[in-house]
Amino acid sequence: MTADTIAPVGDNSFRSPIRRLHGAGLDGVTTEDLPRGARLEAMHTGTAGSIHSWELVTAVDGPGTRMTVFFAGCPLRCQYCHNPDTFFMARGQLVAVDDMLGRIGRYRGVFRATGGGLTLSGGEVLMQASFAANLLRGARTMGVHTCIDTSGFLGAACTDEMLDDIDLVLLDVKSGDPDLYKEVTGRALAPTLAFGDRLAAKGTEAWIRFVDVPGLTDDPANVAKVADIVAGWPNVTRTEVLGFHQMGRDKWHDLGLDYRLENTPTPSKDELEAARATFRERGLKVF
Ligand code: SF4
Repeated sequence: MTADTIAPVGDNSFRSPIRRLHGAGLDGVTTEDLPRGARLEAMHTGTAGSIHSWELVTAVDGPGTRMTVFFAGCPLRCQYCHNPDTFFMARGQLVAVDDMLGRIGRYRGVFRATGGGLTLSGGEVLMQASFAANLLRGARTMGVHTCIDTSGFLGAACTDEMLDDIDLVLLDVKSGDPDLYKEVTGRALAPTLAFGDRLAAKGTEAWIRFVDVPGLTDDPANVAKVADIVAGWPNVTRTEVLGFHQMGRDKWHDLGLDYRLENTPTPSKDELEAARATFRERGLKVF
């Protein structure tokens, strides 16, 4: 598949450079184009959902080659978000579960050969929990490995049945300090911790991601708090410490949003290594 734009999404943007909606049948209809009643009904029942884009990726968003579907809409407003155009669900494209599952099914051979599968990302997947649950169940039924990438803020919207259909959770822990978490995201840390605890209790495999932002999240005391939290979750098999960069700056400008990290540098190699060491010291596998 040919990538024809560079538009990083969410925290994945620190790893995955290519995001674009591809394929016939999914183009041209936005949720804003449909009658309000039809739109609400489809989204309420989860037979359709609003997505920003999807892409095939390798070595990011989970193991193997994956179809990553980026949901539109997010309740957080992370200062370092690299795709603020995923903030709003109404700006996404409405897609039917059946259409999406048909597309996923076509790649089963690739997933099998590479140990890959489906990753639901965003935006925030759990803002459209019924839609996500239907996709995950359908993928499971086809024998496809399933993963969600989430901030965990809406973890309570993930039902036990939905969790049964998830093989791997990519959980972003954006700060270990509740006040700082609020400053970084505009929301509370507690729901993320509760979701992490729930995954640990159930034994659902989790990969954790932390973004090191100079002058915002990189304080050693904050990094230590994140590492302490993660070290308490035995289901975590991988931790990624990602360095902030400025690839999303133009989008904030284009949308007329207040971008607060205008003058924030990327962390140096040594600074990133020091943060990674904090996690390694607690016995975590760090990448
Ligand atoms: S949680 Fe939402 S606001 Fe934060 S980085 Fe991800 S998509 Fe952006």
